[in-house]
Amino acid sequence: MKKVIMIKYGELTTKKGNRDQFINTLYQNILNKVKNFDCKIIKDRSRMYIETESLNEIKDILLNIFGIQGIVISYKLDTNDLEIIKKSSIEVLSKENFNTFKVETNRADKSYFLDSMQISRQVGGYLLKHLENKKVDVHNPDKTLYIDLRKEGTFIYTDEVKGILGYPVGIQGKALLMLSGGIDSPVAAYLAMKRGIKIECIYFESPPHTSLEAKNKVFTLVKKLCKYTDKIKVHVVPFTKMQEEIYKNNASSYMITIMRRMMYRIAEEVAKDNNLKAIINGESIGQVASQTLDSINVINSVVNLPVIRPVACLDKLEIIEIAKKIDTYETSILPFEDCCTIFLPKHPVINPKKENCIEIEKRFDYEKIIKETINNIEIVEINLDDNSYKNLL
Ligand code: ATP
Ligand code: MG
Repeated sequence: MKKVIMIKYGELTTKKGNRDQFINTLYQNILNKVKNFDCKIIKDRSRMYIETESLNEIKDILLNIFGIQGIVISYKLDTNDLEIIKKSSIEVLSKENFNTFKVETNRADKSYFLDSMQISRQVGGYLLKHLENKKVDVHNPDKTLYIDLRKEGTFIYTDEVKGILGYPVGIQGKALLMLSGGIDSPVAAYLAMKRGIKIECIYFESPPHTSLEAKNKVFTLVKKLCKYTDKIKVHVVPFTKMQEEIYKNNASSYMITIMRRMMYRIAEEVAKDNNLKAIINGESIGQVASQTLDSINVINSVVNLPVIRPVACLDKLEIIEIAKKIDTYETSILPFEDCCTIFLPKHPVINPKKENCIEIEKRFDYEKIIKETINNIEIVEINLDDNSYKNLL
């Protein structure tokens, strides 16, 4: 019996009209990640199969691909012959350690002469007779033997690993993620990708107020996010002049509010220039002064593109839990200054008024600075297995 990897699709199976597009995107995403392995991928409308010698390595890669509900290393028979299924089931179970078992059958080939219940009963009876000291327990078995009867053959397996669900990255098009070096925005990136959004990142830096280490930290985070997608483009925005100008013009308690309005304006231009359909960020309601509902209103009002905030309603502890799971937490807590913290006023306004923002913004020609800033954006492409971005630091 040969072993293959069987992939069960996630939520996409509910999207009837778009099914082919979902499957093709998932297929491409998998192909991209396993291109260095010798393997053959077969896709059909309800499953994907990978034939390879590198079963475990590929299984580990699949654990980070969105759009997958379950991953199974399964035995494959090229037949639906019941006698062969029975004998093979013995072989599969004899490798396992258990006392009680049950058999569960899924019959995709409805023309088969027995229904699922009958197959399970027949194979179960055969196993009982031929395995010593084993009992059937249909409610709480130590092992379940799954039989998946399909046109192309029969798959027999015992353990299924859960995938990370979601939609295949790219199926929803692209959006621009505001990435700081903090904890929240990488988590926002992960959650956005989970809904099928391919991301490009925008990072605002303010040298010499922010250091190269801070930039390196952001690039390291991007690299960690590449695990869930292919390469990621980062737009590095030189933000020093804008920040200094706002500061010089006595924005005082409105410093952060105005700064964020400028960030949003720049993000929107970059998004539109690059055909990105939304802005995504790591704002969480009430977390800091600039994330009260009043602040969000005043800041959000300068853009027209939708702003998606995947962690808006999560508790910080829940965000941290995800950050740890996706391995960005340790990098995020490295102590390098972010451009927001440097100009932080003692008492940032928590219920800013739009009129006050407009009055402050009249004090300098911000549109000209935005243009200049955008002209000086540096674009860096980051890849999982390429460290060349380090030359840019
Ligand atoms: P994080 O929210 O990522 O933990 P933070 O809490 O320091 O970092 P905030 O000051 O709360 O960030 O900003 C809220 C959001 O604004 C961030 O999650 C991020 O999406 C965006 N943002 C903040 N600073 C920057 C920056 N320098 N470059 C790009 N985006 C930024
Ligand atoms: Mg935050």
